[in-house]
Amino acid sequence: MRLYDSLSQEKKEFVPRDAEHVTMYFCGPTVYNYVHVGNARPFVVSMVAKRYFESLGYRVTLVENITDIDDKIIQRALAEGRSAAEVGAEFAQAYRDDTDRLGLGRPDVEPLATEHIQEIIDLIAKLIKEGHAYQAGPDVYFKVAGFPGYGKLSKQQVAEMRHGARSAVGEDKIDPLDFALWKGTKPGEPCWDSPWGPGRPGWHIECSAMSLKYLGAGFDIHGGGRDLIFPHHENEIAQAESAVGGPFVRFWMHNGMLNLGDEKMSKSLGNTVTLREILDKYRPEALIMVFLGSHYRSPMELTPAVLEEAEQQVNRLRNVFGELADRAATGDASGVAPPGGAVAAPTGGGGPGAQAALSVGDAPGAALLERVGARREAFASAMADDLNTAAALAEIFGLAREVFAALAAGEVDPATAARIRAELGEMVHVLGLDAVAEGGDAIPADIVLMAEERQKCRAARDFSRADALRAAIAARGYEVRDVPDGYKVVPLR
Ligand SMILES: [Zn+2]
Repeated sequence: MRLYDSLSQEKKEFVPRDAEHVTMYFCGPTVYNYVHVGNARPFVVSMVAKRYFESLGYRVTLVENITDIDDKIIQRALAEGRSAAEVGAEFAQAYRDDTDRLGLGRPDVEPLATEHIQEIIDLIAKLIKEGHAYQAGPDVYFKVAGFPGYGKLSKQQVAEMRHGARSAVGEDKIDPLDFALWKGTKPGEPCWDSPWGPGRPGWHIECSAMSLKYLGAGFDIHGGGRDLIFPHHENEIAQAESAVGGPFVRFWMHNGMLNLGDEKMSKSLGNTVTLREILDKYRPEALIMVFLGSHYRSPMELTPAVLEEAEQQVNRLRNVFGELADRAATGDASGVAPPGGAVAAPTGGGGPGAQAALSVGDAPGAALLERVGARREAFASAMADDLNTAAALAEIFGLAREVFAALAAGEVDPATAARIRAELGEMVHVLGLDAVAEGGDAIPADIVLMAEERQKCRAARDFSRADALRAAIAARGYEVRDVPDGYKVVPLR
């Protein structure tokens, strides 16, 4: 497997530190409000990466922190006359509830900053003792000039960064680039006792302390959004490598940003688009599909049109699973149409006709299973190439198309249907799309194909054929409805 590392800026062969164990740390949200839908992207990327490594046979430990002490939390608490602890606890739980709805499971450890104050204090004390940090009044700062590698992740020169950097009022830093590890308390703020007086930890030190505690130095993958590269991850490297005297992580994995398709999204969904608002309107599988439809490193757009299209794709996959389940359940005695082009063998006949029908009948199933094997291989190669989920999804849809056609042609026997369903199920599981495998409300494959054909006719302005197809679909007991950005097939009552 090859994985892109943002530090060396190249794809490298991924070999974990421990032979059978993959260790990952992703930066989680600061919980001062309901999480933005953009926060769901690193969550989805990390959970899918975990599933993928597990599918390769590794044991995975994924740590994803929750920052529950921060200026924004304190501000909200003051504005609402509540304690910061109360605000932090409320929105940490809301974050867990919202991400639970994605159905991807949870990271193995979700440490809260406020529950790791001792570890943070110990790390700061070590940095001071070894000359990497200093106390200035009630605060403690990291000494950037003492870490030669500073700027290596964000590809910046210290001299240029220093140019224009300045200390805020009340900060007593030696160098304007130095950053706070410990912030002395101000009136009305929550605080903890420390060797440097009452205060609270800076944001960067929190992640270094918690990742080192749970995964140890030199763990495999540290991830988060691209916007965290500087200063957050640059500072994490400086703190952690100064403290441990060696490499902090093996791979830096940064996901691209999520753009909310200009005004369109904001208009239809309000200015702040939270994850829970999206999940109230769209199925979680559709949102996951949208995330996975772009490479994790690419920026991506989230618009109502994109989500609607993903809803259609979810329907399509659910239909394939539903159809396969139905076909698998028919047993081999009934319900299997003769293979396309083959002449049905005369019943009870033992002559050459029966022989011919049997060999022709075997061929489509075997050919289809060969296609399944080829698609699975292509799926595996896509995932092994820096988690190319977009290409992996394309294999799933390609296979779904082939299976649909074979089902519509009556070429899938029950045993083959069961096997394809299991194999396709394993593929969608890796991508966290297990819900589509539940099938349910399956629209028969040939009806879906007719509806798609009708869509093509409409696009080509062949309305008479489109109408004829609608009538044919209605005759089978289904209605094709035009909806924004596509169509929907529903059973007629
Ligand atoms: Zn972090």
